[in-house]
Amino acid sequence: MELRVAHTTLRFRAPLRTGYGEVASRDLFTVTLDGGGVTGHGEAAPLEAYDGVPAAAVAEALARYSELLREFAADTPGHRLLDACRNAVELPEALAAVDMALWDRAGKRLDRAVAALLSENHLDAVAVNATLGAGDRAGAAAAAARAAADGFSCVKVKVGTGDDAGRVAAVRAAIGPAVALRLDANGAWDVETAVRMIDALAPAGLELVEEPVHGLEAVREVRARVATRVSIDETADEPGALTAAVADAVCLKIGRCGGISGLLSQAALVRSTGADVYVASTMDGPLGIAAAVHAAAALRVDLACGLATLGHFDGFEEPEALRVVGGAIRVPLGPGLGV
Ligand SMILES: [Mg+2]
Repeated sequence: MELRVAHTTLRFRAPLRTGYGEVASRDLFTVTLDGGGVTGHGEAAPLEAYDGVPAAAVAEALARYSELLREFAADTPGHRLLDACRNAVELPEALAAVDMALWDRAGKRLDRAVAALLSENHLDAVAVNATLGAGDRAGAAAAAARAAADGFSCVKVKVGTGDDAGRVAAVRAAIGPAVALRLDANGAWDVETAVRMIDALAPAGLELVEEPVHGLEAVREVRARVATRVSIDETADEPGALTAAVADAVCLKIGRCGGISGLLSQAALVRSTGADVYVASTMDGPLGIAAAVHAAAALRVDLACGLATLGHFDGFEEPEALRVVGGAIRVPLGPGLGV
């Protein structure tokens, strides 16, 4: 098997605000996996300012995988290839690229979409949310009205950034009662602040509040004290988080899960506790978004997913197959990942 790696940098239209400051661009590693006359593509999308994974660590892991995969025949089962890579360097963001390429290759070999390989009963399209940045009230209301007019069924507002009450009320007024309103605090609050803020914002009608606080114990306490549904995102990375049953829902990411295979098994663990799952990108590139759409469709995720993020890149042509139409991304129909 031959694994080739190409490194690109994508610039954001507007700098991305993270807990570690502003980020102007992101590294993307696109891999090509050749063997037995069939080619698969995958991608690694670490974002150090957000997930703490340096691009250099991913580059090193992929170089190691490339060296090691050369020893395997083209008909080796995919899970064995993935295990070999994991045993050499256990880095989910890098493993995700190999996993995606294996699924892409499997779909191309059988002339079927990845979602169809995963489930006979997959969704045809995955609902996605619009995300509003931490602007002022008027800006948030205008963006929310546009999202509602474009057919989004869920709008996500970043909170914990000042004037939350004003922006949330303005957004609800702009979208009307039918559109779901999700908040994401990115762990900005402590338990007392979270309880007070969620109670104060709840009259606006909240679908759920994502990552109100960081840490399993803190989330457990907040959830016990508010009537609003609570989900975890960053905290899902803590050991034991998937089965801790501290939240009503868990946000899963292709990179953090180590690809499609990892995301499916993590979703099964979460669902075994009675919690819901949804899927989001970490400002992924097109292959990561496609992989997430196939996985979410196979899982029949009904909460809106955070996958409408390709528009954040500057000078980047969004693949037609991944266009957001009416608040949803259709499952790409081509063989493999379909992009
Ligand atoms: Mg989040």
